[in-house]
Order: sequence, then structure tokens, then C-alpha cells
Amino acid sequence: MYIGRLQLKGFKSFGGSHDLILSSGFTAIVGPNGSGKSNLLDALRWSLGDSSASRLRISRQSDLLFQGSVSRERAKEAEVTLHLRDEERVCTIKRRVSAPDGLTSLFVDNSRRTLTELDALKRQWKLEGARFAFIGQGEVQETLKQSPVERRMYFELLFGIDIYRKKRMEAQER
Ligand code: ATP
Ligand code: MG
Repeated sequence: MYIGRLQLKGFKSFGGSHDLILSSGFTAIVGPNGSGKSNLLDALRWSLGDSSASRLRISRQSDLLFQGSVSRERAKEAEVTLHLRDEERVCTIKRRVSAPDGLTSLFVDNSRRTLTELDALKRQWKLEGARFAFIGQGEVQETLKQSPVERRMYFELLFGIDIYRKKRMEAQER
């Protein structure tokens, strides 16, 4: 599966609507400092269900809304739509955040879903573990500074075996 298309509306530095068509294989995003390369990666992370403020480099979800510029009003709503493709199918994941409270909603193929449901779908599509990873700016240094326990968690996530720890914890809670 690969990202065939990424649509952004009012997301971070991307005021207005943007539509990126991507092909399979290797894609490089280049641009000067502050031009929005990391914001694009934030859009991918967020649309795939990551809400972590630190990873998204925000304080609250409403910080994802385009803040406005001299020529464009601030956005009341931000939306990222990710089109995942393989030979047979296209699947769309859409995540939206609205002003002023920063409430978010998620849709898979236009049906409303919870983050937990998206997690299950990602596992089904093998969008977890070794086949799929984000390595953000500065994360290589961070990994080197991690404690052995933190590093173990990271590798568990990368190899897709963190699910067993989660399942065991859920079973123990019952
Ligand atoms: P670098 O090469 O330095 O890593 P970059 O291309 O990764 O740069 P980003 O971090 O993606 O740059 O973009 C930073 C810019 O995005 C800053 O100018 C910041 O003001 C702007 N920005 C972040 N959030 C918003 C927002 N909600 N509304 C408008 N602009 C925003
Ligand atoms: Mg960057």
C-alpha cells in the first residue's frame, strides 16, 4: 500500500486547499527552512491517528488550524485526507479539527470511525510495525538518549509486537 494522494485544507501553514498526487516508490520533499516540510509529515501522522502534541509540535489540537496571514483568514476547520492505494483498492482516511474547541473527527471511506477502530484497520492493512514508520527530525538523537526500557518500547512498536503488551494489560485489568 502506498500514499497516492494527500489533500490538505487549512492545516498548519497550509491555508486554503492543497492536493498532492504521489506515485509509488520514493518521494522526497524539499524546501527551505520553515517552508512546511515537517508540517506535511505532521499531516500524515495526524491523519493516521497520532494525536500526540509533542510529536505534532503543538500545545493543543486547535494549533493545527491555519493561523491566518495578511492575505488569508485563519481557518475555522482543518482537514487532511489521505488516499492509500494498492493494486486493487483505494482507501481514504479523513481527519478534521474544528475551531474553537479543537474537537476532531475521523472518517474512513466517508464513514465515521473512532481512533480505536482506525488502529484495528491499520493492523489489518499492515500499516504498523516494520513496514511502516515515521522517523522525525531529531528522533535519531532521541533514540540514542533513551533508557533501555524506552528503547524496548520503541522497537516493540516498530516490529508490531506492542499489541501483545496492550492485550495482556487489557486482560489483566479485567
Ligand atoms: P526545517 O527545514 O527548518 O525543518 P520545515 O520545512 O520542516 O523547516 P515546518 O516546521 O514544516 O518547516 O514549518 C514551520 C512553519 O510552519 C513556521 O513558519 C510556522 O510558523 C508555520 N506554522 C506552524 N503551525 C502553523 C499554523 N497553525 N498556522 C500557520 N502557520 C503555521
Ligand atoms: Mg522540519
